[in-house]
Amino acid sequence: MQKIVLASGNAKKVKELSELLASFDYQIIPQTELKVSEVPETGTTFVENAIIKARHAAKVTGLPAIADDSGIEVDHLKGMPGIYSARFATLNDPEHQGNADDQANNDLLLEKLKGVATSERTARYQCILVFMEHADDPTPIICQGSWEGRILEQEQGSGGFGYDPLFWCPEHQCAAAELSAEQKAAISHRGKALRSLMEQLSALRTARNL
Ligand code: IMP
Repeated sequence: MQKIVLASGNAKKVKELSELLASFDYQIIPQTELKVSEVPETGTTFVENAIIKARHAAKVTGLPAIADDSGIEVDHLKGMPGIYSARFATLNDPEHQGNADDQANNDLLLEKLKGVATSERTARYQCILVFMEHADDPTPIICQGSWEGRILEQEQGSGGFGYDPLFWCPEHQCAAAELSAEQKAAISHRGKALRSLMEQLSALRTARNL
């Protein structure tokens, strides 16, 4: 079984990705188990940040790496928080450099959209997944998935993580935090990106076995 390090320190994301990857022939090891530290996400796109994270994990462990960079784009906020989704509530706080907690991010999002009509609250989750065979891999596999929805006026549900209690899912007419893990994986940005990554990885394997 091929070992792959998963370059994410977010426990809930690790759980979602490991569940989705369990059915494939890969043994996914979260980077935290291999003592890989978090690396500063200095890119200005999801793609750059995912590559930064995958390269770092591959370099430290010597294993192939998968990294996920994701976030939510809110149209009324011109695409913010986007790549800054994890640190939205602490972005302008020089005393606090790391990620903010989910509740602070959700409170800030609600505040920024106060009084904004339902039709103007459109948003989407974005996910980029990158696979790098080694730290110097010049052709990383890059896959994208997005999930369209809108921002609710108050939180609903207790599942998922991050902005899920505020993300209205049109497919099931409820908040993302009210979906089961399976329902979310079937339609989410991360589920879509991951299925595309799996297709590309199996194509790569087939091509190399020829
Ligand atoms: P990253 O770990 O730097 O990629 O940050 C991604 C951030 O985007 C998370 O901390 C969440 O705030 C948000 N996010 C990404 N995907 C999801 C999701 O599936 N549900 C809720 N929030 C998400």
